[in-house]
Amino acid sequence: MPAVLRRLARALPDPVRRRVATTFGRAQAPSPPAEPRWADGAPSPWAPVTTAEATAAAWCNICRWTGTGFDGPAHCEGALCPRCGSIARDRFLFWCFTRRTPLRRGLRVLETSPRLGAEYRRAMGTWFDYRSSDYDGRAHTASLRLDLQSIDLPDASIDVLLTPHVLEHVPDTDRALEEICRVLAPKGRMYLQVPVLQGRTARPESPEFHGDETPVFWRFGYDLTPRLRGHGFTATALVPAAWADLVRGGAERWDGETSPEFDVASMLAGSIAEDLTVVADEQDATRIGAQPAYMHITWEAVKIT
Ligand SMILES: [Zn+2]
Repeated sequence: MPAVLRRLARALPDPVRRRVATTFGRAQAPSPPAEPRWADGAPSPWAPVTTAEATAAAWCNICRWTGTGFDGPAHCEGALCPRCGSIARDRFLFWCFTRRTPLRRGLRVLETSPRLGAEYRRAMGTWFDYRSSDYDGRAHTASLRLDLQSIDLPDASIDVLLTPHVLEHVPDTDRALEEICRVLAPKGRMYLQVPVLQGRTARPESPEFHGDETPVFWRFGYDLTPRLRGHGFTATALVPAAWADLVRGGAERWDGETSPEFDVASMLAGSIAEDLTVVADEQDATRIGAQPAYMHITWEAVKIT
């Protein structure tokens, strides 16, 4: 802010001063760096994994970056890919989807509130018949506005639904699952991620909001698997091998430090071994940065008919 305006601003009442400072701050702020372009010519998800990718210490299975390690701490919300900006849970979702789905061009894929930006959506659009949706348009990144409790799409019009961290913000879970089942084609699939911080589903004990002030209605647990089965799906929880091994071994606690927002003892008590399917061995989970194992779970729900 120029000196003359700074002097003037000091004489203003607080709320006005704040507004002036914000306005000038904005006007002078540098524009954010352009998103790195990686989608042009990026190998499709069904291109074979190269030797370099298979042996890299870190490999982004979305943009196919390889390196010695991801940026930041090993956490589902961390381990940033320096090229595409994916975090660990983005890569684990994409891993589950692409490892478990018979892939073909033209697959009708809908993703609710994708966390990644325009370059990711462009890449998905070259590989699939891809659409993204947003509930209220606040993120301004999606092509559709959809309420999962009343989906404005025809029956059987989607082959794959990717839904990361949305269902916990929907008040009526059962209605949303009915609607999802309706819009999926027979044998259509949902890959569902929600934050799992405890063993069993409950409402938050106190009002809870996520980053963009979206209210959280439900904190889900492993009992989501039988619930999905009650809505016309075969369902399993896709997890890294290290988690399944612990559950099958009857472990009651995680050996080592855990992030305080996760009640890992409750998660171990709530996990049912038969409901888990290993989707990544230790080597793959390490390579895509899906660590620590207790933070990574994606439900696979396949519509029965
Ligand atoms: Zn990447």
